[in-house]
Amino acid sequence: MVLDDDIKSARAALADILDGMRAGVAFTGAGISTECGIPDFRSPGGLWTRNQPIDFETFLSRRDMRDEAWRRRFAMEAAFGGAQPGRGHRALARLIGDGRLAAVVTQNIDGLHQASGVPEERLVELHGNSTYATCLACGLRHELSWVRTRFDALGGRAPDCRECDGPVKTATISFGQAMPGEAMARARQFTQDCDVFLAIGSSLVVYPAAGFPLEAKRNGATLVIINREPTDLDPVADLVIHADIGDILDEVE
Ligand code: NAD
Repeated sequence: MVLDDDIKSARAALADILDGMRAGVAFTGAGISTECGIPDFRSPGGLWTRNQPIDFETFLSRRDMRDEAWRRRFAMEAAFGGAQPGRGHRALARLIGDGRLAAVVTQNIDGLHQASGVPEERLVELHGNSTYATCLACGLRHELSWVRTRFDALGGRAPDCRECDGPVKTATISFGQAMPGEAMARARQFTQDCDVFLAIGSSLVVYPAAGFPLEAKRNGATLVIINREPTDLDPVADLVIHADIGDILDEVE
């Protein structure tokens, strides 16, 4: 492992790796979106830590918790709804654009990789997307604006599906909910085929998602970790940069 905390030499070491990259994968977590104003999971006082997460079983079985889940979602919308892609998102979009990066695999649910220009076929959302909703019974997509209108009309109650009356939930994966099979399969394929794996802004503690960096490394890829804090996988990485993501990726061309 090479640990590089000096911004200038870290950028140079990363540039060397990116120069030779032909089919990279960027694996991103909440840390890439903090400069956009969206707190990460473990920030003290962040929205995620203030409220106990509502697990999937509870969402399904309790109408009052569905109301609460939507109340929280709209509170988040008021706080972060206007977030725009940051320097990290834009750098990855450039690397996708010039073909060196094959895919972005993200744990994030904020839609900012799409907003930065990463096309859907190059993006894998492991934990879904909170910018729209789906019916858990029939799968119909519902836009947040529709849910909001119904939620308000019902006096702060979660609406049911307009087609089948099933429960409507943001298109995210909650604790206790099965990981999306297709997204996992695509992420595995990109991981197996990559020559460089860039783990960016993730504490790498949420499994099964955090297994991907190890899988890439086992398959012979160069593993780079960019995160402000140390992670458990630092010792197995080829390059570890403990610095601000935007500062490091800003100049990536
Ligand atoms: P995490 O909160 O566990 O880890 C984020 C890591 O990023 C931390 O180790 C932190 O030190 C680092 N970090 C924060 N800002 C940084 C910066 N500017 N530069 C460098 N490092 C920085 O996040 P996770 O590993 O993604 O897991 C959290 C789970 O919660 C995910 O599954 C995700 O779905 C969800 N989540 C999503 C969002 C989002 O979509 N933006 C935000 C919070 C949580």
